[in-house]
Amino acid sequence: MAGISWNYVFKFIITGDAAVGKSSLLVRLTDQRFLANPDPTLGVEFGSKLLTIPEENKVIKLQCWDTAGTESFRSITRSYYRGAAGCLLVYDVTSRKSFVNARSWLADVREHADPHLTCILVGNKVDLCDSESSSDRRQVPMEEAELFAKEEGLLFVESSAKSGENVEKAFEDAARDILSKIRRGV
Ligand code: GDP
Repeated sequence: MAGISWNYVFKFIITGDAAVGKSSLLVRLTDQRFLANPDPTLGVEFGSKLLTIPEENKVIKLQCWDTAGTESFRSITRSYYRGAAGCLLVYDVTSRKSFVNARSWLADVREHADPHLTCILVGNKVDLCDSESSSDRRQVPMEEAELFAKEEGLLFVESSAKSGENVEKAFEDAARDILSKIRRGV
């Protein structure tokens, strides 16, 4: 059987505080499922997925690495960042602290990763927000995160690994941006 071919392989890394949903985003992307009670000791560390970008007529193989358990060390080794083309900087929209900490995760990425790395800020767990309801758990207004992303030159999306909303989009938007950099020779 002929193997599936692709035009590019992009390495992606997923960073952010513990419990924001990094493993869940990766499981949703690669396996189309959601685990309500994932075993933290069995965090997904790696996932691979083919993405088609129709308007560019390109197929991209994403190789995604989750920080799985390294959050407590705060800084991650250089080898983890080496060769990464894309980064998902994840926070939880119901946790102000995780959004505040996204700044230091970004600093860590900027310190170690390639300066041309495409970074997308991902506000996860948007399924827990309902502005019409008194049980709305949102702690980070979308406008505030959008402004932060704009100031820092990041792409931005709100997602839910639970419902699947915007999960592929997060990876696709970043992949499109990387492709456009390649086209422009950046
Ligand atoms: P990680 O430590 O950043 O990899 O986070 P996990 O993927 O282990 O998720 C932490 C907890 O949040 C788990 O109980 C998940 O089921 C839950 N979780 C992850 N993503 C979502 C989401 O989009 N919505 C909701 N409601 N819960 C989520």
